[in-house]
Amino acid sequence: MNWQGKRVTVAGMGVSGLPAARALHGLGAVVTVVNESDDERSRTEAAQLTPLGVTVRLGDGATLPEGTELVVTAPGWRPDKPLFRAAAEAGVPVWGDVELAWRLRRPGAAPWLAVTGTNGKTTTVRMLASILRAAGLRTEAVGNIGVSLLDAVLGDQEYDVLAVELSSYQLHWAPSLRMHSAAVLNLAPDHLDWHGSMEAYAADKGRVYEGNSVACVYNVADPATEELVRAADVEEGCRAIGFTLGAPGPSQLGVVDGILVDRAFVANRQKQAQELAEVTDIGRPAEDVPGPRTVAPHNIANALAAAALARAYGVPPTAVRDGLRDFRADPHRIEQVARIADVTYVDDSKATNTHATEASLAAYDPIVWIAGGLAKGASFDDLVIGSAKRLRGVVLIGAERALIAEALARHAPEVPVVDLDRTDTGAMSAAVREAARLARPGDTVLLAPACASMDMFANYNKRGEAFADAVRELAAESC
Ligand code: ADP
Repeated sequence: MNWQGKRVTVAGMGVSGLPAARALHGLGAVVTVVNESDDERSRTEAAQLTPLGVTVRLGDGATLPEGTELVVTAPGWRPDKPLFRAAAEAGVPVWGDVELAWRLRRPGAAPWLAVTGTNGKTTTVRMLASILRAAGLRTEAVGNIGVSLLDAVLGDQEYDVLAVELSSYQLHWAPSLRMHSAAVLNLAPDHLDWHGSMEAYAADKGRVYEGNSVACVYNVADPATEELVRAADVEEGCRAIGFTLGAPGPSQLGVVDGILVDRAFVANRQKQAQELAEVTDIGRPAEDVPGPRTVAPHNIANALAAAALARAYGVPPTAVRDGLRDFRADPHRIEQVARIADVTYVDDSKATNTHATEASLAAYDPIVWIAGGLAKGASFDDLVIGSAKRLRGVVLIGAERALIAEALARHAPEVPVVDLDRTDTGAMSAAVREAARLARPGDTVLLAPACASMDMFANYNKRGEAFADAVRELAAESC
């Protein structure tokens, strides 16, 4: 593609827009950046671009600049925005930053192994990168995980293969990606306001399988993911590979007696299975947290998906085991903070929707559950019905806690509920104390809010840190 003089409009700045504008300008394109807000941050960012000769229009994200031949958008911009309508009417293509990175790869560049799904993407991509590294491959976890694909693709560092996390937004704006192999971990309603419907959301996730050359990895327990594989147009010889927490059938990876087993990438999958690792190999507890450890079932599923992608790439079984041992979860994802008076305190602040919380509630028994925040339109009935038997008690915080309280009253009236009528940041400390009061030896106090955090905290990280601080305070007092 000849970029010289090509008129490209970049929609949005920040982590995707700035690198995109710089890269396009570097290729000789005539770049205009449009940005809806005109706040201080935008002006600071604009000041990095204008000296290069990039035109920046702040406070106007709706008008398509005259003569635009291509729009490159930040992934979060909703498809129903006037800018995209104008682009469609003018026959101008719209790419996301991932599509741009894909198109700008150098000849012979590293293939991509991709992971998407409603929950578990970051964890699985980290596991995958750890396994690939254990096999001696030059790799990086990139994409939605925080490391820009553009930087990975255009930088000086050479890679053998990339472990790529893709969000549904990124996939929506990436029509021509062709993966070596890809996994959809699960599908539950999320971001439906953005995509317009569950069907549209699923279709965008399903794009990750389009044109795959070696494997499409799906979740046996989530038939919607297998349907996406069936609907995809893949390269001749590309295989559908399932992962399951049960015993694997042919062309699947699964679990037998606490062992992760591969019945897909073996010489004779009708008769043969290959041991990969023990379930207890998956991550090791931080050295400073004593006591027994639990590997949550959803993390076993994530490990199987990562192993499937790595095996599709030809990684040997020992590297799967070593990589899973080396894997460390990112903070606030089922993070064991402390044990106090034989009660385990777990931070799963990243459980910001009911699907994620369902998975973490399934991992412990009995539980004192700390929940609440911004519900994003969710209903909590199924979540409460599924976990009622394991709940020792519940402590509710945050703006929309009443929705959870009502579901508990409907389906688990016997479970004690402490409804903290607070949304100040100090409320977390009070919540931890109430939870400690409800807990009995052997219980787990689990922060898995099923809600977004922005009513009380800047983000889920801050919420998790507040929880961990409160737990440490409690630990110090009980010494
Ligand atoms: P994502 O990148 O998709 O947001 P993460 O790996 O950051 O996923 O995990 C987010 C939350 O989702 C975790 O805190 C955990 O509660 C939950 N989770 C992780 N893996 C799964 C899974 N396979 N199925 C359901 N929930 C999961």
